[in-house]
Amino acid sequence: MNQPIGQPQQQDLRTTPRHQILVVEDESEIRELIRYNLEREGFAVEQEGDGASALARIRRRAPDLIVLDLMLPGMPGLEICRQVRADPERAHLPILVVTARGAEVDRVIGLEMGADDYVVKPFSPRELVARVRALLRRAGQTGESTSDGIYERGRLRIDYDTYQVWVAGERKTLALREFELLRFLVQHPMRVYTREQLLDMVWGRDTYVEPRTVDVHVRRLRQHLERDDANPTLILTVRSVGYRLDPNALD
Ligand code: CA
Repeated sequence: MNQPIGQPQQQDLRTTPRHQILVVEDESEIRELIRYNLEREGFAVEQEGDGASALARIRRRAPDLIVLDLMLPGMPGLEICRQVRADPERAHLPILVVTARGAEVDRVIGLEMGADDYVVKPFSPRELVARVRALLRRAGQTGESTSDGIYERGRLRIDYDTYQVWVAGERKTLALREFELLRFLVQHPMRVYTREQLLDMVWGRDTYVEPRTVDVHVRRLRQHLERDDANPTLILTVRSVGYRLDPNALD
């Protein structure tokens, strides 16, 4: 096959594997716009127009990143997000949400449901490509897990498959919610989450729990993980906002 002429950047791309991006969007014009711009930047693009087919495709073979519209026929984008995050083998897949509604609530819910970043329609193709690149870079750099199911950094080791946690080599027994809160914070380092967001993410939207339940669980996690749980350096309180985890404290 002849190489296209006048596209010098394709030369470089042959030496590096191309990232596979799955674009899930029912509006064909927008899907086409995204596909065109991503392919022009050297990405390999697959497309789906509805949620169920997208999920089936992701389960057959995971792409490197998903660009996901929230308003989809059949299955809403947030449900795809949730199901991808619930699958241990897919849980780390970067997801860039595309939302028509600029509402804060959508953005927050998207991030709560496990999206990594978002763009609001109408978006500039350049912005979308920049965010895709940033997410792929972040995904490639994490390097903190030695295999899919193990997180290991400094004195902390987590086995996501068996729900076991070790701190400085010592096995810790965590309650299920404590484990899930820890997993969520570890997988979203440095970001500040309110108690309400943590409740939604870790306890689920359907259960009603008092926000101070989060404080109780954070206190227990600190007892397990902090060198001095009265002066925490790992799970930090952000005054009048919530909590964030600083993985640097593990080194
Ligand atoms: Ca749509």
